[in-house]
Formats: sequence, C-alpha cells, structure tokens
Amino acid sequence: EHRLAENGGADLATPPPPSLASGWDNSIEYYIKKQLRIWCRIQNGFWELGKIQSSVKGKASVVLLDGNVMKVSTSDLFPANSEILDGVNNLVELGYLNEPSVLYNIQYRYQRDVIYTMVGPVLLAINPFKDVRISGSDVIMAYKENILDSPHVYKIAEIAYNDMMRDGVNQSIIISGESGAGKSVTAKLAMEYLIETGNSEMAVKLSQTGCILEAFGNAKTSRNKNSSRFGKLIDIHYNSEGIICGAYIHTLLLEKSRISQLCRSERSYHIFYQMCAGAPSDMRDNLNLRMASEYKFLNQSGCLKIHDVDDAKNFNELMEAMDALEISLEDQECIFKLLAAILWLGNISFEVIDLENHVHVVTDEASRTAARLMGCNVKDLVVTLSTNKNHQQAIDTRDALMKFVYTSVFNWLVKTINKSLKGDNNVRSISILDIYGFESFQKNSFDQLLINYANERLQQHFVRHLFKIEQEEYESEGIEWKKVEFVDNQGCLDLFEKKTGGLLSILDEASNTLKATDLTFGNKVKQQHLDSSLWFNDEKGCFKVDHYAGEVNYESMGLLEKNRDTLHHDIIQFLTSSSFCNNFLKSDFDKQTVGTKFKDQLFKLIQRLQNTNPHFIRCIRPNSKQLHATFDKQIILHQLRCSGILDIIKMSKSRYPTRMTHQEFTNRFGCLLSKKSVCQDVLTTSIAILKQHRVVPEAYQLGYTKIYFKTEQILVLEKLRKQV
Ligand code: ATP
Repeated sequence: EHRLAENGGADLATPPPPSLASGWDNSIEYYIKKQLRIWCRIQNGFWELGKIQSSVKGKASVVLLDGNVMKVSTSDLFPANSEILDGVNNLVELGYLNEPSVLYNIQYRYQRDVIYTMVGPVLLAINPFKDVRISGSDVIMAYKENILDSPHVYKIAEIAYNDMMRDGVNQSIIISGESGAGKSVTAKLAMEYLIETGNSEMAVKLSQTGCILEAFGNAKTSRNKNSSRFGKLIDIHYNSEGIICGAYIHTLLLEKSRISQLCRSERSYHIFYQMCAGAPSDMRDNLNLRMASEYKFLNQSGCLKIHDVDDAKNFNELMEAMDALEISLEDQECIFKLLAAILWLGNISFEVIDLENHVHVVTDEASRTAARLMGCNVKDLVVTLSTNKNHQQAIDTRDALMKFVYTSVFNWLVKTINKSLKGDNNVRSISILDIYGFESFQKNSFDQLLINYANERLQQHFVRHLFKIEQEEYESEGIEWKKVEFVDNQGCLDLFEKKTGGLLSILDEASNTLKATDLTFGNKVKQQHLDSSLWFNDEKGCFKVDHYAGEVNYESMGLLEKNRDTLHHDIIQFLTSSSFCNNFLKSDFDKQTVGTKFKDQLFKLIQRLQNTNPHFIRCIRPNSKQLHATFDKQIILHQLRCSGILDIIKMSKSRYPTRMTHQEFTNRFGCLLSKKSVCQDVLTTSIAILKQHRVVPEAYQLGYTKIYFKTEQILVLEKLRKQV
C-alpha cells in the first residue's frame, strides 16, 4: 500500500557516491593473488561476497560464496573487509566504507540479534520486531557497572547522564526514524535507564506517564500497530545530586482526523477500545457503554482488535497510572464521560427534512446519551448540530465537535500530568525527543504534510549539528580539515518555511481568504514553484514534495479547511453553555491556523534542543511488513542513504570527537606536567603537556581557542591523570 515500500526504496543499481565506492588500496592482481574477499554487484543490483579468479581488460571472473562463477565489469567490484572486522561495534572501525560493507556489518549483527551499532557518535537501532532480551534491570545494572559496554540505548542514556553530571550542561537524546522504526520503544528504554539511575519517588511517577500518553495519543496505523500520533519531548529534571526531581512533557499537535475518519484496517486512539473492553460494570452503566463494535466511529475501518494486544488489561493499567499521577476520581470520571460522549456522538443519525437537503437530528439513544454525558440539554445539542444545515454540514459540525472534545481532553491530561510532575530544585535536565516518524501513504493529507515537515526540521537539526556546526567550527578554529560533503535538506525546509512563497505561508494566506478554495491554493503553489521540485497535478489536485526521506504526493483537497480548523460559532456557544464539561473544554478558542501553531510549537521545541548537548539515535525499519528476521536490504539502504548515516561514517573517520578550550585542558591535565615546565600561557602549557607525553600529531589538533582529540588519545591522557 505504501509507495515507499514499493518503489521508494533504494535503487541498488545506481552506483553509490564515489567516495564510498572508492577505497581500493591495491591492484586487482593483488586481490587475485591473496584471494581477498570482494563485493560483486550481481544482476538485481545486490552485492554478494566472492573472490576474483582472473581479470582482463576491465572484465573480471568472480567466484561467489555459493560456488557460482560470474563475469562482471571491474567497476561492479568493491573491496570487502577481512573477516576479522565482521560485525564491528562502530562502523567507523571498518577499513572499507563502501555501501555493501556497511550493510553487511549491520546485517551480520542483526542476524545475531545485535540490533545496535554505533556510526561514529550516532547510535543506529534496527527494529528487531521481536524480544531480543537485551533490556530490563539486569542489563541496566550491567551497563551501570561497566560490565557491558557494547552499543545500546542504555549506553547512550548513561553517557548523557554522565556528561550532564560532569559538565553541568543540559543533554538531549534525539530519536528519529520513519514510522514503525522503533523510536517510541527506544525512547522508553532510554527513560527506563534514566529512571533507574535517578531513582526517586518522582521517577516512579514519571514511569507511569507513558501508559497514559500511549492510550490517548497512539493508534494502530497500517505501518505500525502502536503509532504515536503526536510528538513529544520529555524533559527530565535533576537536582544537583543527579536525582530526578521532576519532569515536563512538551507535545506537538495530535492528529485530529483520527477522531472522525479511519482508513481501512486502522484504529482510532487506543483509549476508546481499552475503555469499551475494560471498563468495570458501574462505569459501563453510568456511561451507557457498549462494546467497540457498536460504535460507528470505531467499526467503520473493519479493525477493532490488534493481534497480541489486550485492551482490557491495558485499561486496568491506565486506571492505575491515573491514580499514581494523582488525577482525581472526579476528573477521571469526567474524562471517561467525554470519551463516551464522543462515541455516542458518532452514532448520531441525521434525517433529511426538505428538498434543500436540510436535516434534523434523530432523537434516539445516541443523541440523548451524548447530551447527557456532555452535561447539556438534548435540545441544545440537536439545535447546534442541525439548525440551517444540510446533511454534509451537519456531519462536519458533529465531527468538529468530536475532535474538539478529544483534543481538549488530551491537552488537559498533558497539563495535569505536568502539574503532577512538577518538582523543586531543578538544576539540570535530560530531554528525550520522540516525534511521529516520516510517513508516505497512498493518500497523504494535511496530517502527513505536518508530520513530514516536522521530520524535515529534525533532520536539519541532525545535519546542522553533525555536519554544519562541526565543520564550521574546524574552519573558524583554523585546524586542518578536509571538508566532507553531505546531503543538506535546507532546500526542502525552505519550501515549507519561507515567509513569502513557502508552502505554509501560501496555505495560511489561502486559509484567511474567504474566496480561496483548495484549487486556488493549488494554483498559487504552482505559480510560486514552477521550477522547484514541486509540481501540481491539476486533475487530481496533487502536489509532490521531494522530502529527504523520499517523495510524497499530497492531496490538496481539504487542506484549507483542516488548516483553518475553525469551530463554528454555534459550537463555541454550545460548549461555553454546557455545564460540567467546562473545566475540560474551557479553551481560548484561538484564531491561529493549525499550520502556524504547529510551526511555532516545532520552533520552540527545536530551540530547546539547541541549548542542549545532543545524543542522536537513528532507528531503522528493517522491512515494510513489521516482520522479525527479515532484513530488506533495499529498504534499509534507502534509510541509511537519505538520513545521512553514510555521510556520518565518512565524517566520523576524520572527526575529532573530544574538544576543550586550552584553559579547560590545562586545568584538567596540568597535573601531568612536571613542575618545572609549568608556564603562564595556557596554549604553551597545553603544548608542553602534549610534548611531555609524546602525543602523536595525528591524535590531536590545536585550534585558536580549543584543542581537539581523537577518542583513544583522550582516554590515554585520562588514564595517566588517574594515576597521578
Ligand atoms: P511511529 O513513528 O509510528 O510512532 P515508532 O518509530 O515510534 O513509530 P515504535 O512504536 O517504537 O515505532 O515501534 C513499532 C513496533 O516495533 C513496536 O510496537 C514493537 O512491536 C516493535 N519494536 C520496536 N523496537 C523494538 C525493540 N527494541 N524490541 C522489540 N520490538 C521492537
């Protein structure tokens, strides 16, 4: 169903970038003589290991591992690493960095259930789609006590914690990847480690938030049975002793369309099914609650259950988590009343009463129950939904009401959880970012547009930090450095964000113009972007965006309405007059468009991240079918290529990961200097330390203000320091 899975994958027939393809450090004759392993590109574009038998005039005869002999052009051969390097922990350790070697290393590990690999400073996590038994308290302890040291999300969390404690700088763990790649599970593991490390009552409370946020903000999509439909940044606050003293959850817009319309085989938010399956009998009676199958809004997609998921059990856990976070019974009651009201609103039917297609609401169990649960008079509800409205308008009004109620409950919950997690003595923080991953379906609309825009922003943060800022710094510090080329997605980001002519501003302009339609919006896009990567298909009203993770076709139909997202004034009036809901539904009914609000939220989030020391984790979806033990090279390579992981390897080879000012260096390592050579100037002192300990020139570089080191070298100096 998904374009990406079908044709957006890697085209292995295309030669890899030259810098990765190169790397032959000896003649072909040498490889023949020594019978060294090589990679041979075979017909379908994949590579296989083999050895060269002979070579004449640009053609080679290669014997593959299975004994087959192939004749290929020598340009289809790549050097392979020796067996000794099979499955190295960090891809940077590979001698040859061509794509087949990189892929082979990851696959080698994956087949042995080793899902984590370092790529320079970035952790790569390949979703195993099964329990690989490398999590839990014992494993956490093993990492804490340095019994285990191999790449792991726990290791990243440990480094973040230690960096925070040592340097007194706020940290972030930034997790990215496509939908279904394993970001949320990875985020959960990072939290788990930090919660055990910063043990406190607050930490226990924090551990309960996941279950609530998942119930209300996650749903089954065709790509992921537990897909996050909102973005979140969790700041974990620490006191000066490194104990968790509070937390704050920032959220990015929740997907709204899932509250009225569902695609085939998808579900709405888990909470609805959990409540229908698990509510105790007194709650069922109070809410007049039925099974999920009896609600039109839930049964429209032909999917009520998720394999291996026990909704009733999850509901019980949710109730316990709500208690743990001190959400009062009264508030809990209100939440469930409103959720049940949404379900009953979806069952409301309309009857056409005249030739102009005007309708009235059928007064039946659905409308009566919905009104009762919302604390209003059934007549008021009926009037709001149907006065002067045709059938479609009445449905739209009802849907808008359902969406508004749900998002209000969600926002209220986040606010309440944050109140409960508020603590004192907060001096430092570690933030964990987990947003909805890049999506490309057959039909892509407003939600995908925003989700993919957010992923572009995040990718730019990644690129900026790992390539731009780093290389700029080397340049400004005047150190010797061979510039590494990388794929920059700034162009696509501009397409969205430019003040004039950017997609979001054209959309806002059209949304604020009464006469504008989806089609006039499309024409404007076409006018502005005739020469760019974006085109418009007039008949279908589609436009294409060339995202860093692949091309996506968006439908312009309905974009303006979704961006405006205005609540009709009779709904506002109705909401402000209904009695008990006020607490939850009291809102300042803001006038901003959804796109602008989203952009603002995103900017604030990225700004927070910019003030932290980041640790990046890149999650990879190993196949498009959510299967374990299925390593789809094409899909994986596509993600590695477009996420910049392959460029990171190149960069990391020559990078200087440890840096400190001359002052910091002399403060820390001045003790290694024999007394008589101590001098005043920090640069001279730095040089004296390096000289005295015979640090080789390849291991460091002296910049104008800072000194840069290869990792191994700084470890040697640290060891010496501990011996003093
Ligand atoms: P989305 O962007 O749609 O929210 P995501 O990247 O957050 O997707 P997850 O929900 O974390 O993806 O993972 C999808 C599914 O993959 C999980 O429900 C789980 O079944 C499986 N999975 C992910 N990571 C792991 C892991 N480390 N071990 C076992 N299973 C995993």
